[in-house]
Amino acid sequence: MTLNRRDFLKLSGAAAAAALSGCAHQTAALSTSAARGRVVVVGAGFGGATCAKYLRQWGPRLDVTLIEPNDIFVSCPFSNWVIGGLRSMDDITHRYDRLPRHGIKMVRDSVVAIDTDMRQVRTRDGARFDYDRLVLAPGIELLTDALQGYKEAEAAGKVVHAWKAGAQTALLRRQLVAMPDGGTFVISVPAAPYRCPPAPYERACLVASYFKRAKPRSKIILLDGNPDIASKKELFQSAWNERYAGMIDYRPNNAPFAVDGDRMIVSSDFEDVRGDVLNVVPRQRAGEVCGLAGARNDSNKAWCTVNLATFESTTVPNVHVIGDSVLSNLPKSGHTATSQAKVTAGAIVELLAGRLPDPAPVVANTCYSATSDTTAGYVANVFRFEAGKGYISQRAGGTTATGDTRNFKLAQAWAKNIWADVLD
Ligand code: FAD
Repeated sequence: MTLNRRDFLKLSGAAAAAALSGCAHQTAALSTSAARGRVVVVGAGFGGATCAKYLRQWGPRLDVTLIEPNDIFVSCPFSNWVIGGLRSMDDITHRYDRLPRHGIKMVRDSVVAIDTDMRQVRTRDGARFDYDRLVLAPGIELLTDALQGYKEAEAAGKVVHAWKAGAQTALLRRQLVAMPDGGTFVISVPAAPYRCPPAPYERACLVASYFKRAKPRSKIILLDGNPDIASKKELFQSAWNERYAGMIDYRPNNAPFAVDGDRMIVSSDFEDVRGDVLNVVPRQRAGEVCGLAGARNDSNKAWCTVNLATFESTTVPNVHVIGDSVLSNLPKSGHTATSQAKVTAGAIVELLAGRLPDPAPVVANTCYSATSDTTAGYVANVFRFEAGKGYISQRAGGTTATGDTRNFKLAQAWAKNIWADVLD
């Protein structure tokens, strides 16, 4: 890359100005048709599908391959609405058929090996794909082995996580419907970091709302591996106190270590808790494929540390990691995954055009949580990257202390928009 100081200042000034006006990626789009090269994206979830799409939009000459084993996209956002009986599985299930229109080559397969020296990935079917830049967006791996008895209980359908939307989401809904009135639903939250910090508390609200409508004598026990409600505390507390008084028994610092599916018991260091429906969410780490690339590089070899301006791995050159697999102060949400995807697409397009990427990218997050069948609240943040400091939260939308009907409507608009941004 040949850049003199004046070019660099011009570029970084333009990029910073664009970032401040929220148009960093669009600006990149105007000037990047020079970018050429092969980019392989692994995983067509929130992060990967968005990244592939914007790579082609901003780098129309790029050869972009998107590898994903599933033929449908099932959204975790709004999966709690299915569990609470407000939506159907069809409402959160989407097809991939519009993505290829962007010139993305979609491959239905799983990546099983990565040679970072040869810059090549191999799939389960034996196909090989060379890359100049690789984007890993595999989401999370659930550490079910860390919980005694979990795998056996899961195989017998006695415990679910429903933390990857799909068959378990539908199963949990069926189990709640089949549970007799007066039964107990046990849900456990792992210690942070984990996918979508507010989601367990939203799930408790929506199940409580369902119980109120259909089985008013039933109870929820929420075992939290964290010392306190990890996200939107005021919002959830107000819902639990005002709408669900006496229904949700919240027990902090109480991470389970074992599940007994025969006796329907979840055990923590403090107690054995019996439930009629068990929803234990295991601890997590970066998706398996990050391990294949040697990109799980934090001190526990669990998550991926990246250069946060480009999302390139701090230890594996030419490999970018986005979404839930990244260790940072950005929340593990679908919204930030799409935002990181755009920052990464913009950075790759610049790098492959022989230029420097935006030095001050912006990542946004808006996360709605329903508190009942008619109310929701939100948290909204904008984070701006500052060299040497990381992502700094800017003054933004903040968070709501109580749920309301307006935000319930806005939540649905948010979902419609983000699904379109990822898949259309
Ligand atoms: P994913 O979206 O999980 O995508 C990963 C993809 O990679 C998958 O399609 C997978 O099949 C594929 N993959 C994995 N391994 C391989 C491989 N070896 N080869 C090829 N492909 C592979 N976020 C919000 O913003 N708002 C919400 O309201 C919200 N609600 C949530 C509710 C619940 C109950 C949960 C569990 C999560 C919620 N989230 C929400 C969080 C959101 O779902 C995640 O943050 C988001 O999915 C992360 O995107 P990702 O691209 O990292 O991973």
